[in-house]
Amino acid sequence: MRTQDIMARLQAKYPGEKEYLQAVQEVLESIEDVYNQHPEFEKAKIVERIVEPDRIFTFRVTWIDDRGEVQTNTGYRIQFNSAIGPYKGGLRFHKAVTPSMLKFLGFEQTFKNALTTLPMGGAKGGSDFDPVGKTNDEIMRFCQAFMLELWNCIGPDQDIPAGDVGVGGREIGYLYGMYKKLARQYNTGVLTGKGSTWGGSILRPEATGFGALYFTQHLLEKAGKDIKGKKVALSGFGNVAWGAATKARELGAQVVAISGPDGVCEIPDGITPEMIDYMLDMRASNRNKVEDMAVKFPGLARFIPGKKAWSVPCDIALPCAFQNELSEDDARELKANGCWCCCEVSNMGCQPGAIHFFQHNGILFAPGKAVNAGGVATSGLEMTQNAEHISWDASEVDAKLHFIMKSIHEQCVKFGTRPDGSVDYVKGANIAGFMKVATAMLEQGTI
Ligand code: GLU
Repeated sequence: MRTQDIMARLQAKYPGEKEYLQAVQEVLESIEDVYNQHPEFEKAKIVERIVEPDRIFTFRVTWIDDRGEVQTNTGYRIQFNSAIGPYKGGLRFHKAVTPSMLKFLGFEQTFKNALTTLPMGGAKGGSDFDPVGKTNDEIMRFCQAFMLELWNCIGPDQDIPAGDVGVGGREIGYLYGMYKKLARQYNTGVLTGKGSTWGGSILRPEATGFGALYFTQHLLEKAGKDIKGKKVALSGFGNVAWGAATKARELGAQVVAISGPDGVCEIPDGITPEMIDYMLDMRASNRNKVEDMAVKFPGLARFIPGKKAWSVPCDIALPCAFQNELSEDDARELKANGCWCCCEVSNMGCQPGAIHFFQHNGILFAPGKAVNAGGVATSGLEMTQNAEHISWDASEVDAKLHFIMKSIHEQCVKFGTRPDGSVDYVKGANIAGFMKVATAMLEQGTI
């Protein structure tokens, strides 16, 4: 196969699906050489099949806001690939959600889930519903209306949604309540990220951020460095940023920046536990303003409107917010300010130009599908606990999460080591994930 040919065909077929085409291109470029060493893949047209979702559900979601007005949104569930396990992946509620965005996320999820060592296929879903400024009652009514359509498409051995941007523990609770009413079965394993008193795994809320920091530790260790005392800039202040800040602090790093759509909060002496707790209130308020941190902690945090986290001098950059949030210009600014490592925690957080810049300017870089896989991995652990009707304690879940992140790092090293001994983590993660899914597809025949 030639990446160029496949991309030309996909561009003609899906014009304008920018994020989806970007994600496919990145993976195909990484795997092209390995793929072409396997004529059996070419014969079974694995690449042509793996880039297309198995199926897409699209549905109307109608709900009533607090003023009594009828609102209509669009809901989606994209079941991307089930070669190695049931469909698994989060739901994103964000005003910019489109089929292209969810297709890119479902495609990425397929390879990410393969890296976790657990048997999970790839999926993604969500809606163009905008949670910003919504009341708790409105969120509940929207979740219930969304589930009225979704419940028929999911099941513990079929498709298991979870959270993503705009969907946290509160939303999973409302979604599960409606699912249970419609299905008339408890079916604990149908969603992950549940509350800890009704089947949720301990540490699931922290898992994406904790896993990202475990991965970063392994990457630094391989490069002969230590995270202790290093300055970390991270973007966002939602669930992922919260978990990352907690673990970074615990490991002795100083979190010197968090950010939001309104600007950045610079925290020269490092984030404190009180500030980390306050991130949860900020998310629950649905205001989506990082400035609130500086208002609450005036002596410790300084708000700079309109600026990104990447303008704050740091050693390590951790994008934790949204796709394409870090541009090539940002990458240059980071380097000029002394940054030497970027671990992408958000899905496809760095633009292709930024990745290229990092890789050609001696900056350690690892992609989201490896770095952030601890979230879905812990969802997988939640599914195991649900299937066994048991719950593990924090130390057991943490040890398993740690083991999984170590194994993901090893897979990247195995498939991504360059002749000079350094590691191309993009290539390593893509090849490792692809080989697992492609082999399963081959063994299961032409379906
Ligand atoms: N949305 C998360 C991700 O991007 C978690 C998905 C899950 O737990 O199923 O991997």
